Amino acid sequence: ASILQVQGLHYTYPDGTLALRGLSTDIARGKKIALLGANGAGKSTFLLHLIGILKPFSGKILLHGEEVKYNRKALHNLRSKVGFVFQDPDTQLFSASVWQEVSFGPINLGLSKEEVKARVIKALDDTGITSLKDKPTHFLSYGQKKLVSIADILAMEPEVLIFDEPTASLDPRYTKHVMELLDQLNQSNITIIMATHCVDIAYGWADWVLVMKEGIITKEGTPEEIFTND
Ligand code: ADP
Ligand code: ADP
Repeated sequence: ASILQVQGLHYTYPDGTLALRGLSTDIARGKKIALLGANGAGKSTFLLHLIGILKPFSGKILLHGEEVKYNRKALHNLRSKVGFVFQDPDTQLFSASVWQEVSFGPINLGLSKEEVKARVIKALDDTGITSLKDKPTHFLSYGQKKLVSIADILAMEPEVLIFDEPTASLDPRYTKHVMELLDQLNQSNITIIMATHCVDIAYGWADWVLVMKEGIITKEGTPEEIFTND
């Protein structure tokens, strides 16, 4: 079954750049999806639509079969189901300590104190950063910040997790850690969408590949279907 259905998205930036030209696809539950495309293909623009940060000029998105309306309540609902880990963790982190950072989302959901605590403990444990819980986020290394930015979103318990170039600027050790983490999250039934311009990542990691070019998805299929020459 599809979690998200994307139908005919068009989007033009204020300066007139046409970024999406009728993009359509279905996001099926439980998959590891690589969104592959060159720089400028429109990957980020598409992903920002999936959490309602950008609103299409035409076309629509359905969450569990229901069209997303762009009012406060609908966007709140969308963002509680679909989490977005930004490429640069510094744009995402703003709290004093790791604990505060990761608890911010659950507190905002209006959860009880106990539930907030339980979610933060689990998110820190899943990402392997429990020992950093009292550290100020601005003292952390880039790789540590990346993990905090992931824990941050995990504490929201999303059904779909979106990553924009998750291993960009990470050293090999953190790259391996993050990629293993993505697999572990997927095994716990979270659908993962990862934007990448790296064919090797798409081929080796994904079980479904979306190929984007000039604002539309030009091909989709299993890595074997996409990367095998006839
Ligand atoms: P990708 O993530 O695949 O690199 P983007 O979605 O960032 O692609 O960009 C798609 C197109 O939109 C590109 O032509 C890019 O230059 C343009 N673009 C992206 N962001 C903006 C913006 N804020 N204002 C104007 N044009 C933009
Ligand atoms: P309290 O529950 O004591 O009223 P908070 O939950 O706001 O206070 O947490 C205060 C600090 O204690 C946090 O910054 C965090 O570092 C730490 N902390 C709280 N609960 C836990 C926990 N269950 N495990 C680890 N550290 C915790």
